[in-house]
Amino acid sequence: MSGNGTTWNLSGKKAFVCDLDGTLFMGQNPIESAVRFVIDNTKSGRFKFFYLTNNTSKCPEEYLKKIAGASIPVTENQILTPLITLEAYIREKGYRSVYLIAGEKVKAHMAERLSDAGVSLDYDPEANELIALTYDKELTYDKLAKATGLWNMRNVPPSPMCPIRTKNQTPVDFVATHPDNCCPSERGPIPDIGGMMKFLETTNGMRPSHVFGKPSPTLLAPVLAQFAPEEVAVVGDRLYTDKAIADNAGVDFVCVLSGETTREDLAAYRGTPPAIVVETFDRVETSCGVKETA
Ligand SMILES: [Mg+2]
Repeated sequence: MSGNGTTWNLSGKKAFVCDLDGTLFMGQNPIESAVRFVIDNTKSGRFKFFYLTNNTSKCPEEYLKKIAGASIPVTENQILTPLITLEAYIREKGYRSVYLIAGEKVKAHMAERLSDAGVSLDYDPEANELIALTYDKELTYDKLAKATGLWNMRNVPPSPMCPIRTKNQTPVDFVATHPDNCCPSERGPIPDIGGMMKFLETTNGMRPSHVFGKPSPTLLAPVLAQFAPEEVAVVGDRLYTDKAIADNAGVDFVCVLSGETTREDLAAYRGTPPAIVVETFDRVETSCGVKETA
């Protein structure tokens, strides 16, 4: 690896895991040269591309539409969202009853994904084995009160403060799909799942056993099942999420300057430098000096 990009070898790579906003898109608009690079190299089969997002307020199909809308050939198994990690977690644990806190579309998506496993995703205080929190843009007080009440009745020792107990006294598990405190918007930062977790923790101290999504490397499991770590690079514009997931998974990080990170941020950054820094993703081709024909 090299901080100045002179020795980074593109030809050893087989797969790129791409962040979306700031890397391939700016809001709704594609970053043309980066998108062109992805289209050309997808069509030639030179590299495999995966698309990474922490946002669990949307279904993978919505990202599929956005990416395909920029003329990039893409299928659903190239979209990496913490909803995939959540599904894998539920299957691995063998849970059959989950209180899923999610918007209606996401809940319907998860119900479809888990339909073969006979998993209920509704609130059921006697049966629920897991509380799963997503970035629920349809969050209500009732959902938060059910989650904390369920936790109190199952995970807190009996007390006069909580006279109602469930017959089932097996502690309920709690996970969150990602850690983001805020979601960028044209109006500046707006609430994401981080505040929802704080809301719950402030109420009765409940904290998730697992938080999926960037920077947890679990999100890259489907990629690392197909490629060796040295064949993979994460491409993104945020050091504290995109670079962190690359570091945690032991793969190279390509830092693009088309989004949030600036050269000033890089100069002040105290961690290991990115494998390569480029203005836009397509520049990875020329910056490492191994220009090849597709
Ligand atoms: Mg980004």
